[in-house]
Amino acid sequence: MKQKQLNTIMNKAQDICSQSGGRLTEKRKRILELLLVSNTPQSAYEVADAYNKSAETSMPPMSVYRILDFLESEQLVHKLSSANKYVACSHIACSHTHEIPQFLICGKCQNVKEIAIAKRIIEELDMQVEDAGYKLINSQLELQCLCDNCLVSAA
Ligand SMILES: [Zn+2]
Ligand SMILES: [Zn+2]
Ligand SMILES: [Zn+2]
Repeated sequence: MKQKQLNTIMNKAQDICSQSGGRLTEKRKRILELLLVSNTPQSAYEVADAYNKSAETSMPPMSVYRILDFLESEQLVHKLSSANKYVACSHIACSHTHEIPQFLICGKCQNVKEIAIAKRIIEELDMQVEDAGYKLINSQLELQCLCDNCLVSAA
């Protein structure tokens, strides 16, 4: 990611936080940056490791978890429940409202692509779940895939 692009995203992230009354502190910023420049999802421990390598004062994993929680509540990062790892949102610099994300996860190189689920699919899913007597709590989808690159190299 180019520095200019990163700056644009970080400025927007700052706006999103101040609009919701949250504060994007230096530490929170740094953690978000680490996820933005990472190509693959990171566990909280991996994020803590990367942070501690680059900062003068080290941060315990518990604090990293809290920061990730905050960033998640602002929809700046997403948690992939299937892998228990975190990715930066791909739509921070976008002006549209955030939709329910669907994550395409490459099983080979772990690259993740965030796309939005079509509304009618969520509605259908919701109905199916309701028919079964359950209630859908989280409609985020995580799909195991092969990315473009890995498809080409597998052929
Ligand atoms: Zn997102
Ligand atoms: Zn977008
Ligand atoms: Zn791949």
